[in-house]
Formats: sequence, C-alpha cells, structure tokens
Amino acid sequence: MSSIFSKIVNGEIPCHKVAENDKFLAFLDINPLAKGHTLVIPKQEIDYIFDIDDELYKELFLFAKQVAHSIKKCVNCKRVGIAVVGLEVPHTHIHLVPINSVYDIDFSKPKLKLSNDELKMIAERIGSKVVL
Ligand code: AMP
Repeated sequence: MSSIFSKIVNGEIPCHKVAENDKFLAFLDINPLAKGHTLVIPKQEIDYIFDIDDELYKELFLFAKQVAHSIKKCVNCKRVGIAVVGLEVPHTHIHLVPINSVYDIDFSKPKLKLSNDELKMIAERIGSKVVL
C-alpha cells in the first residue's frame, strides 16, 4: 500500500504545492507549526531518510535548501528551522519551519488551524520565489 505522500505525488489526494521537479516535491504541512511550514519529500517512496542513497540524499537537501531560501523571503522569521521526524508518515520528509525561537519548532505544541484559502495563498507566495 502506498503512503499518503505517494498519493499526493500521484495526484490521488490534494496538497498545497510549493515546488517540484522530477524527483522531489515540496508542499505545505496540513497541520503547521507556523505559517509557511513546508514538507519536502522525494517522490520515490522511501520510509527512512538514512536509507536513501547518497546521490538522492544530497539532491534532496539541495532541493530543500532552495525551498528554505524562498520561505525565508516570504515569511517574517529569524531563520528556517529544519527537522526530520517521520514517526507519523513512513515516507521520508524534511520539515522546514519558519522560526523565531526554539518553541516554534516544538512538535508537541498545538498546531495552527489555517483555512484552505490561507494555505493556498502561502503556498503560491513561497512557490513563486523558489529557484530550482
Ligand atoms: P512526522 O511523520 O512525525 O514527521 O509527521 C508527519 C507530518 O505530515 C505532520 O506534520 C502532519 O501534519 C503532516 N501531514 C500528514 N498528512 C498530510 C497531508 N495529507 N498533507 C500535508 N501534510 C500532512
């Protein structure tokens, strides 16, 4: 059975897409810690990030770097934090979270509730500034 993120890659379920190329996809986290919280995934379904082969691993982080630069341009924050958890969805994903303090990237805190329209606007804004 394919992961929920593979279903997003295959267009079976929707997402607020930020950027993509042939190997990677970035989209907004549906339950964000902060406005602009983005997930970056390889399109290939690999559960554990440290099982990814070196070349794809490097490319994944370079892709995430470009997305992070765009988040920083679009969201008022000190920097973009990066985290890999992977306890919920067994498909490698990098969390990119705009942060002003360490609390902003505390995964145990209550998530934001953003409307579909707001998520759409944020995704479009970040996506428009991604340079791949
Ligand atoms: P974790 O696997 O612990 O890194 O957490 C998985 C993350 O994926 C959580 O932050 C969820 O809010 C997020 N998530 C789960 N399903 C979706 C979805 N359909 N679209 C966007 N984000 C999702």
